[in-house]
Formats: sequence, C-alpha cells, structure tokens
Amino acid sequence: MVRAIVGANWGDEGKGKITDMLAQESDIVIRFQGGANAGHTIVNHYGKFALHTLPSGVFYDHITSIIGNGVALDVPKFFKEITEVTSKGVPMPKILISDRAQMVMPYHILFDQYEEERLGKASFGSTKSGIAPFYSDKYAKIGFQVQELFHEDTLKAKIARVLETKNILLEHLYHKPAIDADELFNTLMEYRKMLEPYVCDVSAYLWKALKEGKNILLEGQLGSLKDPDHGIYPMVTSSSTLAAYGAIGAGLPPYEIKQIVTVVKAYSSAVGAGAFVSEIFGDEADELRKRGGDGGEFGATTGRPRRMGWFDCVATRYGCRIQGTTDVAFTVLDVLGYLDKIPVCVGYEYEGKQIDEFPTTQILEKCKPVIEVLDGWKTDIRDIKNYDDLPENCKKYIDFVEKHIGFPITMVSNGPSRDDIIYRKSSLK
Ligand code: GDP
Repeated sequence: MVRAIVGANWGDEGKGKITDMLAQESDIVIRFQGGANAGHTIVNHYGKFALHTLPSGVFYDHITSIIGNGVALDVPKFFKEITEVTSKGVPMPKILISDRAQMVMPYHILFDQYEEERLGKASFGSTKSGIAPFYSDKYAKIGFQVQELFHEDTLKAKIARVLETKNILLEHLYHKPAIDADELFNTLMEYRKMLEPYVCDVSAYLWKALKEGKNILLEGQLGSLKDPDHGIYPMVTSSSTLAAYGAIGAGLPPYEIKQIVTVVKAYSSAVGAGAFVSEIFGDEADELRKRGGDGGEFGATTGRPRRMGWFDCVATRYGCRIQGTTDVAFTVLDVLGYLDKIPVCVGYEYEGKQIDEFPTTQILEKCKPVIEVLDGWKTDIRDIKNYDDLPENCKKYIDFVEKHIGFPITMVSNGPSRDDIIYRKSSLK
C-alpha cells in the first residue's frame, strides 16, 4: 500500500512531524521531489532535528529511507545531514538512492545566488540552494544523473560540453570566475565514492516491495500552492509538490497511491515572495510568528522569518482538492490558544464580487480577504489526547474549517512531538 503525505498550503504545515509519526507503520519512506531548500522539523525521543533531504523515516530502524529519482540531490549536504542525525544517537539509517536521481552541482548553487543578486528587488526569495538552476538543467537535458558518475569517459565529455555555456554566462552575464572542468570532475568522483554503497534501481526495488505487500510512504516537500503547475506561478518551487508526482518521482504505478494525507496548518505562513491574501502584518503577525510552530515561525533552512496570515479556506480547499486528499491532518492548532477571537479568511473579494475558487496569479494579486471571526478557546490544549476533551470553541473551529474545505479532518496535531496527536471521526468519511 502506498500512502502520500503532502502539504495543502505554502509549505511548513508540519509534514515532517506527521511523516515521523505515520512512518512507524511503514517499511519504506521515500522523498520524490524537491531538495535541500526546505526543511522538516521533527521532535522525537532522540531530540529535535531539521531534515532537508533525508526522509523523515530515518529515526526508525525498521525503515528503508529512499531518495527517489525526482529529488534534487545535494550530495555533500545529504551526507552532512546523515552525520548530524547519527551524531545525536540515531542508528545509521538504511538508505537507498535512485541511480536516476540527479545531483545538484556546485555551480547550481552559485547560479542561484548570482541570479537572485542580479534580479535584486524582483528576486524570487530563493533559498539559494540551487534548486531552480538544477531543475532548469534537468529539463534542458544537461543535468547529471547519479548513474553517470560510473561512466567516466562520457562524464568527462559531458562536463566539457555543459561548461561551455555555463562559463559564458558566468563571465559575461554575472562577471564571476569560470568553472574548471578537472576540478568539477574530481568533485564528482568524490560524490561517486560517497554514493556508491547506496545506489539502487529504485523503481524495481519498489515494484518488488509492493508485490511483497510492503507499506510505502511518499513524503512531500512544500505544499500545493508552491507547485509549478497549480501553484502561484512564478513564485513557486521548481518541482511538483503534488501527491500525483509521487508516482513519477519515486517510480511507482499511480494507481498504487491509496491514501493521500494532506497536512493543513491551523493558520497560514509562507516564505518567499508571491500573493498571500490572508497575510497579516505588524504586532498581530509578530505575535503569531513568535508563538507559531515549535519555537516560532522561522525558516528551517534559512532562519528567516516566515510571512504570517489567518487560515485561508479558499487556498486550502483548493490545495486539498489539487492533492486528491483522502485525509486531512490539521496541525499546530495548539498555537491559536492565546487568541480571544480567531479571524478566518472564508472567501476572496475581487472587483467587488466574492469568489470562492482559488484564482490564477494575476487575479490573486488583487484579491482581498473576506474574513469571518470565530471565538477562541483561550486554553492550552497540548496535553489533550481525546477529541471529546477539546474545548467547545476549538471543536467549532475544526468543524468550521472542515465544512469550508470539504475534506475530512481525521487527525488533529496539538503539539510538535510524535505523540501530540488526536484522531477524529469525520462525518465526511
Ligand atoms: P514541514 O516542512 O511541513 O515538515 O513543516 P515544518 O518542519 O516547518 O513544521 C512546522 C513547525 O511546526 C515545526 O517547528 C514543527 O516542529 C512544528 N509542529 C508541527 N506540528 C505541530 C503542532 O501540532 N503544534 C506545534 N506547536 N508545533 C508543531
């Protein structure tokens, strides 16, 4: 059985925590897209971790953690992350890396930085991890798959070919030093040494695993609204954030994905530029940012403050629909316990009319939030384990959100730890 865990919003919904929790019942956890540009924060009995590329199942010794072909693999960062995890007492995870996964080249990171510098005010707010140049090259067919490291002659020839254009750009567009072909080749040989023990034909491995009845978990990065096709283009990420892409980025039959757990945060936060209709500012935003997540809403990769907003029913309904949601995990609800009143964005106003469907970018930029205000519950709900024990207004908030998004909330997360979870029977399911 294959289950996907994905985000409905702009990312940072708490997918890491939900994955870490649900991984217990899985045999395999696999990353199928994205790279080291976003982080998952996980709190468990080993401590607190910010994972960027490692799948969130690495904390269980029965799990095989896989880097799928759809991932942007930053080799040094990946191994650094393994060291960080194992140095805190986590047993060395079982890891497999797809022979078809492509690698982030050192120059992808440089190009990401140089291009953001060149764009200045018009920049995308990239984390400068090389992700956009990486995926551009992948689709321009000048990327490097892991398997290519094992064919030295063709690798050398390809490096020479690729560097021709890269060095022209470096010299004439960015006015930066050129890349040396031998140095790059030597770096790639280092990568080869590091990767060799883990390289595998992942789709064949997964096919066999499915035949043996294994449970496979696909772990998404970021959320629906950052998807390059269905998100707020061009302020999106460069690989698909949707569960459907799990089939491609892992190499699985699409019909095997039986459950799509979409993680939805009880308020909104976003990083990077782009339209954000329910955004709030000033003290109101600072307070929510400070109290948000586990120790504040600051980027797990960059440490930069996240943009904050009230819960957005329009964006989340769309985000869930485009994922093909079967279950919603509603997270970080405990954080809202300080509010007397909780505003919720229930619609968008565009040119004097209310719209309920999430629009395309240019219209979105002009939308104003239609706000409804709910009563807060003004208590700490962190230690509550049963749905019935939640304060009445808290349950009303959950019901309200569920009614507006139209997908069953079956899990409510009320704290950052693995055990802070309340299962809920939804009337929609
Ligand atoms: P991801 O990228 O979707 O995995 O999200 P993040 O790693 O950015 O998670 C958001 C933050 O919220 C992290 O600091 C988590 O530890 C924290 N978190 C997750 N679930 C909850 C929750 O239910 N309550 C609280 N207070 N924090 C949570």
